[in-house]
Amino acid sequence: MSEKPFRRVAAAKVAEPELGDKVHRATVRTVEKRAHLVAEIPDWESLRRRARELRLDALDRREKLLDRLVRRLEERGASVTVAHSSEEACVAIVRLARHTGGEVIKSKSMASEEIGLNAALEAAGVTVTETDLGEWIVQQARQAPSHITAPAIHLSVEDVARIFHERAGIPLPDWIPPHPSPPPATSYRPPATPEPVRQSLARDLSLAARGILRERFLAARTGITGANFLVAESGTVVLLENEGNIRLTTCLPRRHIVLAGVEKLVARDEDLAVLLRLLPVSATAQRQSCYVSLLADRHPDLHVVLLDRGRTALAADREQRDLLTCIRCGACLNVCPVYRCVGGHAYGGAYAGPIGALLLPHFDGLERHPDLPFASSLCGACSETCPVGIPLHERLLELRARLVERGFARDLGWTMRRAASAMRSPSRIARALSLYRLVRPLVGGLPVARRWTAGRALPRPARETFRQWWARRTDRGRSQFSVLGQQPEPAGTLNRNPESAAAQPRAEARGSVPEVPRGSETENRELKTENRVRRIAQNPIDAFASRFADLGPAGETAFHHVATAAEATAIAGELLRGAERRSVIVEGEEPERREYAFGVTGAAALIADTGGVVLDLRRRDLAVPSLLVDTHVVVAHPSRLVADLPAFFRMRAEKRVRGDWYDVQVLVTGPSRTADIEKTLVIPAHGPRRMVVILCDEPLQPGNLVPWTDSG
Ligand code: SF4
Repeated sequence: MSEKPFRRVAAAKVAEPELGDKVHRATVRTVEKRAHLVAEIPDWESLRRRARELRLDALDRREKLLDRLVRRLEERGASVTVAHSSEEACVAIVRLARHTGGEVIKSKSMASEEIGLNAALEAAGVTVTETDLGEWIVQQARQAPSHITAPAIHLSVEDVARIFHERAGIPLPDWIPPHPSPPPATSYRPPATPEPVRQSLARDLSLAARGILRERFLAARTGITGANFLVAESGTVVLLENEGNIRLTTCLPRRHIVLAGVEKLVARDEDLAVLLRLLPVSATAQRQSCYVSLLADRHPDLHVVLLDRGRTALAADREQRDLLTCIRCGACLNVCPVYRCVGGHAYGGAYAGPIGALLLPHFDGLERHPDLPFASSLCGACSETCPVGIPLHERLLELRARLVERGFARDLGWTMRRAASAMRSPSRIARALSLYRLVRPLVGGLPVARRWTAGRALPRPARETFRQWWARRTDRGRSQFSVLGQQPEPAGTLNRNPESAAAQPRAEARGSVPEVPRGSETENRELKTENRVRRIAQNPIDAFASRFADLGPAGETAFHHVATAAEATAIAGELLRGAERRSVIVEGEEPERREYAFGVTGAAALIADTGGVVLDLRRRDLAVPSLLVDTHVVVAHPSRLVADLPAFFRMRAEKRVRGDWYDVQVLVTGPSRTADIEKTLVIPAHGPRRMVVILCDEPLQPGNLVPWTDSG
């Protein structure tokens, strides 16, 4: 990671050809998709409030919860290490990885970036392969990830093609020169390659990576993952993903090492019903991630490394502690104008954007990142978008004040005092504006303004100021701007729209929040929530079918609702026509091959609100029929339908208490996918390409669905 000050690196990044364009394009796409989705979720704001409460509560009770989590994990035979520093964590993981010998595969984990785990493993002679497509791309390029959820966001499809060519020998298409062209000397830009061509290349590259990584999955003896949440009540390790690489990492190698920050603690399983609704929407603009693994099993070789590294100190910081409630969705990066210009590498650490500008000074030391809290326009977009309601821009301001107090940053007192004095005097403002008009062409060259003007132009003043315009529009214009120092306007004489004045009687003048009028957005949202709940309750099958249809393009998802077992087997027969029995694996069968054309499973539950299917697994490696197959076929009875995530978690708690369910559940919500290259959606990533759900009114076991007898 860079040790150079943010300002210097950021200036270089701003000058880097096309970096800003690439990051801007990708983030804007996600922000737009997310906005549409949020608008469809009527109880979004109450979910955010609830999530903040839950996360703060877990923070308050962290010691008790941590004890409970460690107890639960140890009861299941896991070893648990609490590491206070990067060194402690690396030493523990390197020891565990070396012990098994052989290769290590790893899924995306911000904590591992924080501690420099890959470098430590490689220094110890352990080969480690990143398995998330974006992470693998940046690993091949020998770079650090530049976004929490989209590590290769700063690379174009041409960049990725060159990296694959150089590192994996994949041929370059004709239209990509082996070396990037230097930036044009003029503003001329060559015509862009048509979008369909770029998308087709992104797809080819993603599939090539799938092929290469499949070998690594099958060879590895140790799998390292992070954790999105760790549930103290049940010791459940919760992992969200879209590609299927985390499932493969947790299922195939003999040893599983979990590395997670201690702040990932969640008190109860039911709290996940809130957090799992917010995280995918904010991270990847999806109602639900393709795979949510809930691992609470007695794994024969499970090791959990809990990373403190400054988190306990931050939890004791009354002002800034809520930074630990972050769920690492990356949404604040996507909306941040600074991040969009400079990308993630400029921040000089594992985290970027507004949350990076806050966490890095806490985790690495304020003195190491004195510039970062200033890497914000304080526009507040990050706070507005944060799904757990962290007021990020306020936290940045607090940290700035600390930097000034401790002498790491210059006091802006003189400048601010001059500005405040000018603001209090309209005549001074008017004089300053006139002066600015005259000296603007020269200001940029002054030493005091050079830093500002290096990356942007000074604004050109309008021909006519607002005050002049207003004075022209109304003969009372001058007096109405009493706030700018003219004669004060008598109360109630402003030329206001009488309707709006009636709607907000003196509320602004008193400085109070205006009452929410009836028929407000809040009421509409509540109504929408009720309607949605009612619709699901009245017809859960239709609700499930419509959500399921949204999960993939036609052909990659198919839903059938049939009355009889004979109809279900006829559909399956059609689907499997021409396939050999040995290319089909049915739930419960021990896998004998590396991969199959078809996998047939049942479903422990179906979630109407998300279109998700719940698998209940006796052992992790029995996940093959839903993972190492081209098509995953699910057969289930309508009685397995539950309305939504809260209903699913209630059901899970009851079933596990009664011993009806095992200790591994996986929520599968569509075929596996990735969008790590230029945000182009590619199906499949590491898991199945197609998913077919057959809902049958008659009871039917998965084994009865295949048209062969055992001997056949
Ligand atoms: S601070 Fe909020 S928006 Fe930013 S990554 Fe964390 S949870 Fe997401």
